[in-house]
Amino acid sequence: MSDAKVRLYVEQPLGPGQPVPLTQDQAHYLFGVMRLARGAAVSLFNGRDGEWRAEVAEAGKRGGTLLCKDQTAPLRLPPDLWLLFAPIKKARTDFIVEKAAEMGAARILPVQTRFTNSERIRQDRLQAHAVEAAEQCGGTFVPEVADLTNLERLLADWPADRRIMWCDESLVGARAGLLEAAGGFEARGFEEGPKRPSPGPWAILIGPEGGFSEEEQARLRRMEQVVPVSLGPRILRADTAAVAALTLWQSVLGDWR
Ligand code: SAH
Repeated sequence: MSDAKVRLYVEQPLGPGQPVPLTQDQAHYLFGVMRLARGAAVSLFNGRDGEWRAEVAEAGKRGGTLLCKDQTAPLRLPPDLWLLFAPIKKARTDFIVEKAAEMGAARILPVQTRFTNSERIRQDRLQAHAVEAAEQCGGTFVPEVADLTNLERLLADWPADRRIMWCDESLVGARAGLLEAAGGFEARGFEEGPKRPSPGPWAILIGPEGGFSEEEQARLRRMEQVVPVSLGPRILRADTAAVAALTLWQSVLGDWR
């Protein structure tokens, strides 16, 4: 355990004795907002090298340097799970990205569907939300937030071995749960990696407020990789559906097991 009060994501490599120069924003946060002085401990991670305890070596108004001391946690990768969702209003989209990072999605892909409300996203802002979520939940990994992609194009090129847990609102109230489907996956066997609990590559797909179009539904039903799943007897808003789906998947197939 580290005695650090602050956990910070940095891009630089981390290792014993490694100096980490700070950006102006980082220096402002550490020395202006958090009032850290020389010698204070900071917890660092970069998404690749685990978590490290570092100390403030130089503190200035516009910059500074941290010095990496020792590793406090190894890199913990989430399962190989992507979250595909149709972006909704800004605050709700931010919420989905934040929750997906906390819940252990490995990659977050906003997708444009027939009834997607929003034409554009700010990928850089969403990525920053994923970083913040990882900082505060103690994660050592930051999921990549991809740019907005068209669902049809994405499905046209979909990897043969990546299953899709399709949250299908037409199944509302049905017993078509992941649990039922998971019996079959168990029989085929899980690949247990050394670092990654892995039922193989998966994705979750959540639709927009308007749901999926008939063509999209037909397209998804034809795909072998697709497992249509119900999220219970109520129609959930897309942001609730994202958290519920991640919970369901993580508890049945993922790293909650
Ligand atoms: N307007 C649509 C609902 C959209 S809800 C309708 O009334 O049918 C937004 C998304 O959340 C859906 O596309 C689906 O992916 C997911 N979702 C919400 N509730 C669900 C449920 N009970 N079962 C499965 N998926 C659900």
